[in-house]
Amino acid sequence: MTTPTIITVAITGALPRKKDNPAVPVTPAEQIESTHEAFEAGASLVHVHVRAPDESPSSDPELFARVQEGVRKHCPGMIIQFSTGGRGREQSARGAMLALRPDMASLATGSVNFPASIYENPPDFVEGLAKTMLELDIKPEIEVFDVAMLYNAVQLAKKGLLRTPLHVQFVLGIQNALPARRSVFDFLRSELRELMPDATWVAAGTGRFQWEVNQWCLETGGHCRTGLEDNVKFDPTRLAASNAELVKKIADVCEQYGRHVASPAEARQLLGLAPVAAIH
Ligand code: MG
Repeated sequence: MTTPTIITVAITGALPRKKDNPAVPVTPAEQIESTHEAFEAGASLVHVHVRAPDESPSSDPELFARVQEGVRKHCPGMIIQFSTGGRGREQSARGAMLALRPDMASLATGSVNFPASIYENPPDFVEGLAKTMLELDIKPEIEVFDVAMLYNAVQLAKKGLLRTPLHVQFVLGIQNALPARRSVFDFLRSELRELMPDATWVAAGTGRFQWEVNQWCLETGGHCRTGLEDNVKFDPTRLAASNAELVKKIADVCEQYGRHVASPAEARQLLGLAPVAAIH
């Protein structure tokens, strides 16, 4: 028996532009189509940022609603996760779309430097988002951009602001934050296992580290995240043609690691989310 791996596709993000790679989907229609292709290739979870018509990051709930509706219609059972990330967005607006009650939303549990900015998540803001997610029954994906965020998440869970088991994402390879080093990856996994033994986890490698980190996750029992948000190229010599291509690259090697691609139903069960039948 192989073990399932949930493949997350981060389709758009806040940074890549069409000029970086024409395959980056930015309008809701492009995002739905790109998600559908990635779903067919094996992705069971989609991480969503939305963009204004000029491609700048947006917090407009209407745009999130259109993507959510399209993905629900075309990708039965797929887990929808909204980003509450900060790049180019006002703090006060970052949780506005949670009222749409996606299955999941990202939650960074601390602040960190990014390549040219501060990703600011003050304690009261993090607690506010956590409370909203708790009230609306949205499962957070804890985004760990720096080591302290892991311990902060454990504290939030102890305070009753996060339901357990947690689902945690380790983000490796962002300049000024955690490097994509195997020793760091192993340390984070071991700390999580000790502090929150029942937690599920995934790691994301950015840029040229994406594929390497995907392989580390397959090898060590983690889930996988890929997509153009983190990496507009997977091969330094050429651009990735699509989100689906990045997903397929993982799906194609799962067997070599004794893994199989989780179906939406399996992914929902692993993350303790409502079954497919309950949402359609
Ligand atoms: Mg994101």
